[in-house]
Amino acid sequence: MIIKPRKFPIAIKKLKAIQGRLAQSHPKYEIISENIAKRVSGYKGEQSLDYHLSFLDEKTFHIIHDVRLFDGKHYFQIDTLILSRKFIYLVEVKNITGTLFFDNQFNQLIRTQNNTKEAFPDPLIQVERQCNQLNKWLKLHKFKNLQIKDFIVISSPRTILDTFPNNEKIHQKVIHSAKLPFKIKYFEESQEKNLLTENQLNKLSKLISEKHTPGNTDFLTFYNISGDELQKGVICSQCTKLPMDIIRGQWICNYCHFISKNAHLAAIEDYSLLISNDITNAQIRMFLKIPSIYMANKILTTLKVNFTGKNKGRVYHLDFDSRIQNY
Ligand SMILES: [Zn+2]
Repeated sequence: MIIKPRKFPIAIKKLKAIQGRLAQSHPKYEIISENIAKRVSGYKGEQSLDYHLSFLDEKTFHIIHDVRLFDGKHYFQIDTLILSRKFIYLVEVKNITGTLFFDNQFNQLIRTQNNTKEAFPDPLIQVERQCNQLNKWLKLHKFKNLQIKDFIVISSPRTILDTFPNNEKIHQKVIHSAKLPFKIKYFEESQEKNLLTENQLNKLSKLISEKHTPGNTDFLTFYNISGDELQKGVICSQCTKLPMDIIRGQWICNYCHFISKNAHLAAIEDYSLLISNDITNAQIRMFLKIPSIYMANKILTTLKVNFTGKNKGRVYHLDFDSRIQNY
């Protein structure tokens, strides 16, 4: 059963919010676009694993997607954990196309595509580090003598895998996604003894979900972009230009003449992703380019979010994860 489903990554939402508000001529526009493309491709790769995982028995396996834990010193992130009473399966998903050569002598991964060679960090080292950190975390939480099996799952069936002859470790650990349920079945059948009781397994998967701490990178700081460099206003969802004008409660695009009643929601979400979850009337007027206090007040009130303070000092607490998305 799926204990923790995969959600659309907040990092992609944040980066897209920045991209949508940077002029295309901005020096950081391209690097941010590349970062988005890389992350979207990774997310698609992870999603494509779901079909193959659906072949695992619901009762036997607990599936936890996209988990970030603290080992006492560092945070570590794991794409998918699959727990049974016998093993913990740690899965790192790579969505890399072309021909991949795993070089275990220099610890690098070389991709060849369209006659171009490109080096990637060695995923075997990455999963080894993740295993060490997970082991440390398990000990920290009094789970001892558990066995972790780690895999690097290549999500595209068209990716060609290659390595030096007799590089057994690669053959064991690097697999195409369709192979994963069979590998797990093999390990489950090869071991008779259960290391966890049903109760302990439930406790462990619950604990991992509870201790999950989502990453919260401030990409504006990371890319050294100041708030002033972001273009303000409500973005037109049809032609992506800004700002839209508000006329009698409707947002109108000056370029493609698209009309929307709730185009401001995406702009408020941008504010919450990039600036703060708290917003005042003055701040929303500036960020959304709303001409009057009265209009801004109407918009803030219809959001039906919690607020504190009175009059000019009133602060609205945005909550896009639950309330506003259902609005
Ligand atoms: Zn437009």
